[in-house]
Amino acid sequence: MDRRRFIQNAASGAGAAALAARSSFSKEGTIAMNSSNPSPMMMATWNFGVAALEAGHEALKQGKTALDAVERAAIVTENDPENTSVGYGGYPNARGVVQLDAAIIDGKTGRMGSVGAIENIKNPISVARKVLEHSPHVMIVGEGAKSFALSQGFHEENLLTPKALDWYAEQLKKDQGDKGHDTIGVLARDGAGDMAVACTTSGLAMKWPGRVGDSPLIGAGLYMDGEVGGATGTGVGERAIETCAAFAIVEMMRNGKTPQEACEALIRRVARRNSGKLAFQFAFMAMNVDGEYGAASYQSGFEYALLKDGKITLNTGKTFGKDFD
Ligand code: ASP
Repeated sequence: MDRRRFIQNAASGAGAAALAARSSFSKEGTIAMNSSNPSPMMMATWNFGVAALEAGHEALKQGKTALDAVERAAIVTENDPENTSVGYGGYPNARGVVQLDAAIIDGKTGRMGSVGAIENIKNPISVARKVLEHSPHVMIVGEGAKSFALSQGFHEENLLTPKALDWYAEQLKKDQGDKGHDTIGVLARDGAGDMAVACTTSGLAMKWPGRVGDSPLIGAGLYMDGEVGGATGTGVGERAIETCAAFAIVEMMRNGKTPQEACEALIRRVARRNSGKLAFQFAFMAMNVDGEYGAASYQSGFEYALLKDGKITLNTGKTFGKDFD
């Protein structure tokens, strides 16, 4: 069986199971109900997630899918030259080169696409979607990711803005250390109840050339299972890779935890592994197929945008050691 048919077969199974799971909440025992017309929902990391969700919401209002919505949302942040941690204008690696990581997962079909350490392509999230749609692969990195993008009609451009170049010149005079980082992670559930997740970043500023973070790694920086829900995060990606963070959260939700409980459990796990030392930021958020959601961070200060009941709000995730039991 070819990959496309394999995935389509898997998708119909997952879709049927998800519908069955949602219909079980019907008081009348009918198949319609909360599954027939769930209210569209989205979440996105950080305050720049608000502008991203405005675009995603617009897409959902036009009847686009969750997959379209998370891509559109992520593109807004990738295109923003003032955002120095995602896409165009992102701070470069130690050689002064902007290398981008991105991935996208369609909960409806179970298909995934990812690019790592891609250079000179402005919208890695869209390249990741092309990997999902037009390749037999899940992840393509480096030069190969760029050549794949070019083969799909993307064009090369300089992603290092004058602002980022000036910043880089300054860094060369300073000691190493945390030079800043953030990611836009986006979760969506569309009007049909289907879910998707996207994650895109320029990663850690001044990172070693070729360093790939958690954001394009399926199961680390993002995960989605159409039967359960999804998770995505931000912060020092090595901590997410070490704990298969997004996959762990989704599996905890599968086994009965709410999204909030699952995010907190993961943050606790990271804290235990790091002896409770709060020297880095690390945050995750999650949403399940029933529209329950949650977010938790290691240090304080993690904000996320939420689209719920047609309104977009900026919220603060629960912080380890402060709001956890
Ligand atoms: N997770 C990203 C990375 O490690 C950075 C961040 O989200 O702050 O590449």
